[in-house]
Amino acid sequence: MNAVEWNRDLTQDLSAIRDREKNLTDKPDRGLGVVSFPEMRKGNIGMCVATQIARFVKPDSKIPGWHSQAQAWAQTQAQIAWYKAMEEAGEMVQITNLTSLHQHLTLWRNAESTENLPIGYILSLEGADSFISLKNLEIAYNYGLRAIGPAHYGPGVYAYGTDSDQPLSQKGKDLLAEMDRYNMILDATHLCDSAFWDAMEIYQGPVWASHNLARKVTPHNRQYSDEMILELIGRKAVIGMAFDAWMMIPGWVRGKSTPQNTGLVIEHIAEHIDHICQLAGNASYVGIGSDLDGAFGKEQAPGDMDSIADLQSITGILSRRGYSEQDIEQIMWKNWVDFLDRSWA
Ligand SMILES: [Zn+2]
Repeated sequence: MNAVEWNRDLTQDLSAIRDREKNLTDKPDRGLGVVSFPEMRKGNIGMCVATQIARFVKPDSKIPGWHSQAQAWAQTQAQIAWYKAMEEAGEMVQITNLTSLHQHLTLWRNAESTENLPIGYILSLEGADSFISLKNLEIAYNYGLRAIGPAHYGPGVYAYGTDSDQPLSQKGKDLLAEMDRYNMILDATHLCDSAFWDAMEIYQGPVWASHNLARKVTPHNRQYSDEMILELIGRKAVIGMAFDAWMMIPGWVRGKSTPQNTGLVIEHIAEHIDHICQLAGNASYVGIGSDLDGAFGKEQAPGDMDSIADLQSITGILSRRGYSEQDIEQIMWKNWVDFLDRSWA
């Protein structure tokens, strides 16, 4: 989305990306982005979940989106074309199975410098509206898609998402059945409560939540209730922490709140991490999701987050809170790898 819709060349330094946007006003985060490949490498982020995203909306929808599923599909095809171009350029490498996962881990762990290494990515689809039919799922699997979140915001073709609520439709159930056949990872992020519980009842395959926080800390339907978290823990899911300001603390008012006037800092994420780890009784089901590639920048991120590399400060935050070295390692990266080891075995 950053590359194709926001027109950002993520291979550039952050300062160059920001500079290029200094006269643009079309999006709230112009000149304020926090992600670039060099910053990811600086933050020792060797692997990420990379998304395809394109929503379909009906006439009079309050949320923006494409006017047909075919246009949404075309948008996701632009996004995969960019990822493939990044692979050609040696900037990224796609991870689709245990062989490519462990090859990549070995490459990063043994390298003297990570400055020029490709960033590994697991391809995910956020909101499945762009699938015109289930045939598109097969096409997508073949170009490397490994995770699907059926919903995003509002009413979706296959499932309702954040700020809406509807049980899973037959179309949604058919999508899950097809995902099961391919052993796709179900991304439970953004599913509305009814669709979440319907999906948990019927889905047999692996489930993760790429970017989601705890409702107990930030009361909003976007976050998970304790019951939902316990269900995910029971399924050995990993819940990826998100750094979108309004999700991290209660009472954020769009257009009024700022990281400065709310005092929001990275450390606030520890409230969500603590809560989930308390429910689990261990640190095995929390990871870093970030969400920092998603339509916001410094204006809507913790005040001490200048770039994605600052995620490394979580290590010190957790250590000061009494997390063991092993817990911290699990949360920072290992839980995701263990999840993939289980899911792709
Ligand atoms: Zn999202």
